Amino acid sequence: MSRPTFIYTRTMQAKKTKRLESMLEASIKQFPELQAEAVSVGYTKRYGEADVQRQLIRLNPRKLSYYVIGHELTHLLQGMKEALGEHAIPNGEIACDIWTIARSELFLDEPPGYLDVGRRVLLDWKLHRDRVRSLCIQAIEKRKTHRTYIRWLTNALCTSLD
Ligand SMILES: [Zn+2]
Repeated sequence: MSRPTFIYTRTMQAKKTKRLESMLEASIKQFPELQAEAVSVGYTKRYGEADVQRQLIRLNPRKLSYYVIGHELTHLLQGMKEALGEHAIPNGEIACDIWTIARSELFLDEPPGYLDVGRRVLLDWKLHRDRVRSLCIQAIEKRKTHRTYIRWLTNALCTSLD
């Protein structure tokens, strides 16, 4: 397996930190689908963005979390439907969060931005995050037979955690 390559944009060359580079290296290891791809990394003042056409993610070194990196890399997978076949990830921000959380514990360092996990969970994310992850993994299983898997998940989050 070839080593993943990050191509930093000129702006990011000037802004990137050692911390950002090591977090990216750790994160990409959780994405075997991207091992052969060159991923471009640019800068944003916001939390994160992804440009699927250009295989590019944009990060903010000052607002960095594994969750944000994982979320943006998952967007790249959403754009690789043909290559991924039956493992393709559905479009949308909530789906992106569900697949990011399910992928690895690494991406649980902060709560998701789009999946509604409920107020109680947000108040003590560390206490609940493993349970949220296991429900996300179950939701992905459910989706094979139930298209309403997001409703199932948000329902399960409310009833099992509140
Ligand atoms: Zn997103």
